[in-house]
Amino acid sequence: MVAPVIDVHPGRIADVGGATVRRLLPLRGRRTIGAWCFLDHFGPVSTSGGHAMTIGPHPHTGLHTVTWLLDGELLHTDSLGSEQRIRPGELNLMTAGHGIAHAEDSRGVASPVMHGVQLWVAQPDATRHGPSAFEHHADLPTVALDGTIGTVLVGSFAGATSPARADTPLVGVDLTLDGRVEVPLDPSFEHGLVVLTGAVTIGSTTVGADELAVVAPGIGQLVVQAATPTRLLLLGGAPFTDDLVMWWNLVARSRDEIDQARRDWEGGSPRFGEVATTLDRIPAPGA
Ligand code: MN
Repeated sequence: MVAPVIDVHPGRIADVGGATVRRLLPLRGRRTIGAWCFLDHFGPVSTSGGHAMTIGPHPHTGLHTVTWLLDGELLHTDSLGSEQRIRPGELNLMTAGHGIAHAEDSRGVASPVMHGVQLWVAQPDATRHGPSAFEHHADLPTVALDGTIGTVLVGSFAGATSPARADTPLVGVDLTLDGRVEVPLDPSFEHGLVVLTGAVTIGSTTVGADELAVVAPGIGQLVVQAATPTRLLLLGGAPFTDDLVMWWNLVARSRDEIDQARRDWEGGSPRFGEVATTLDRIPAPGA
């Protein structure tokens, strides 16, 4: 068996609309894991005393947003007319294609704490100019491995397959572990493990909270040891070879495409549509 080389990247602090998050993708030394191209870990943070999480209407292109909560609750609204509450254990997957706008709002939610991750998946050329779409999955498959519970967000893992859309070969799994687990991997994928809470060791490498451990293709299994209760995300996919241009909430292949999308948003183009919310529309940076 080939011994895995584990490359550990610390997350960085980023500001999203006044809220502090830990960004695990993209990082200077690692832009993507498969087609996964963005990961923000937010909270746990109190939503009492006027600290509700509110993100007004903003545009996306060329990506899927994947929203996953560990605690709290959010209301998603988008320009397709979707209105969907999301709670821990449920998945929201929004496809931007040529363009969509959405908003997220925790106002009026009973839960006092917000904790979760916002992920993006880059769409391939075959679908990135296509129609937008929205999916909510309240009942994702779970697997049990040596006392570790895995919830399959996207793709297939340990014999279970998520119903969520994936436009490229991809996997995303939430793992809750305390102890040793043998994690099966697709050797054709590159993988990333993101520790959300707790810490694990893989061989002689320790991966702590808000660190990304990258595993190159060719590995069929990882032995992961948690000394304390740990929550982590396993992400993987076929290496994504397109050169992405990412700016603000837009994913494209060239600066011209980004500039056009930005002008379309600023000009109120029907490309992005209208979102039914009382929150204010977010202007593009520098506009
Ligand atoms: Mn968004």
